[in-house]
Amino acid sequence: MIYQCSRCNTIADPATAYKSGPHMRIDCPACGEYISFLRKSDDPGELVIYFGKFRGKKISECPKIYITWLSQQNIRRYSAAAIEYLAAL
Ligand SMILES: [Zn+2]
Repeated sequence: MIYQCSRCNTIADPATAYKSGPHMRIDCPACGEYISFLRKSDDPGELVIYFGKFRGKKISECPKIYITWLSQQNIRRYSAAAIEYLAAL
């Protein structure tokens, strides 16, 4: 994941993220523009699904049969996370 400023194109180091409410926030080191919130964790089970009948659920909260299905699709990082999650069970 690259955190790049949309205003001046500077790339920010995720290690400079600071706590902002419940999240870790990254600002541009050059111009101070807000860039992004850091993904909360790299735990694939924490990834929240925004589509389908399990919309709003974390991968770890979905039935295993659904996670298996997800792992066999080609839905960008969701399928990759599902594969990782299943491998770690
Ligand atoms: Zn900037």
